[in-house]
Amino acid sequence: MREVLQVRFGEIFLKGLNRPTFMRMLVARVRDAVREVEGHVWLSDSRVYVSDVTDMDEAIRRVTKVFGVHSVCRAIEIEKDNFEAICAQAVELLKDHEGSFKVNARRSDKRYFMDSPAINMEMGGYILERLPKLHVEIKNPDVVLSVEIRDMAYLYTHPIMAVGGMPVGSNGKATLLLSGGIDSPVAGWMIAKRGVTMSAVHFNSPPYTSERAKEKVLDLARILSESLCGIRVHVVPFTDIQMQIHEKCHEDYTTIIMRRYMMRIANEIAKKEHAQALVTGESIGQVASQTMHALSCTDEIAEVPVFRPLIGFDKSEIIDIAKKIGTYETSNLPYEDCCTVFTPRHPATKPKMEIILDGESKLDTEALIKAALENTEVIQL
Ligand code: ATP
Ligand code: MG
Repeated sequence: MREVLQVRFGEIFLKGLNRPTFMRMLVARVRDAVREVEGHVWLSDSRVYVSDVTDMDEAIRRVTKVFGVHSVCRAIEIEKDNFEAICAQAVELLKDHEGSFKVNARRSDKRYFMDSPAINMEMGGYILERLPKLHVEIKNPDVVLSVEIRDMAYLYTHPIMAVGGMPVGSNGKATLLLSGGIDSPVAGWMIAKRGVTMSAVHFNSPPYTSERAKEKVLDLARILSESLCGIRVHVVPFTDIQMQIHEKCHEDYTTIIMRRYMMRIANEIAKKEHAQALVTGESIGQVASQTMHALSCTDEIAEVPVFRPLIGFDKSEIIDIAKKIGTYETSNLPYEDCCTVFTPRHPATKPKMEIILDGESKLDTEALIKAALENTEVIQL
């Protein structure tokens, strides 16, 4: 008998013929997650198990963050042949409880000598006899004691909900435009949660943006990398492009044109990363560059689909997620972003394409982008 962590996955069940591949990925991700607590991880009978960890609470903290994990249970694993011994363990698990309970048996070993209703009855009776403070309630019990008869028997009471989603690596690659703000880390996390491997691009404008501002972005990427299974960050020097836009283009249009240059460079980095989509933290109407008109002007430049998972979210909803995933505090540190360096007084909220194109025609786009890409620093986290 020993304590193990039983790990359940959610949507992988939907995946038909690809299921074995998804399962292998999930096992690999769980294995990565528990490496520091030395856990032993294995797959048996369509469940993942973790045993022999040095710190079970830490193992739970880590595994519940793995994308693709629906929930985990701290379970007692015990030989299934001695039914009385299983019942005795059930009593151990419930002995500090009061109020109502029910036994919920599942028998995936169909040759087991009792079926599920019989296990419920027998075990329920055994518990009632020894724990007179408890009574049975089928509809809404205070505690459900689950018993699973697989190649071993597993007993547990309280499943712990995990993050859900799909294992990273199961659904292609995307490149995140990562600023130091609240939104883009959340956007990246949401897409990665669907199983997408992420890389990131960050634009900085030294000396207008500081080394600490860049460090803050890398810190955000580090926080994300725990869930994302690592992330490569491309730090692109953006000062020359911004200066030229500032000098040569209509002031009201500097932000929208700047965003189109970000898109152009992100396109190239996505190609290098074999990414099939770009991800941004934009939401409709949040700032001038995120009006419907402005978004379509930046979209037009993208050579791959742009995913904006926060498009319909209010700031307060985004903040809630940022707090949950642990990026909020870092995002809130007061360092400048290149977007805030040369902000126009009256940014165009309904930009006209002729004015954008006229502004861009004054810049040597190809040379500017080439230089920015050549001087990009690539950091693997
Ligand atoms: P965030 O909180 O993510 O900074 P925001 O609401 O401040 O977003 P903007 O500054 O308009 O919005 O940026 C919109 C999106 O553009 C960001 O969510 C991000 O995806 C991208 N972006 C902005 N600045 C940068 C940057 N310096 N480097 C990379 N991407 C950026
Ligand atoms: Mg920003």
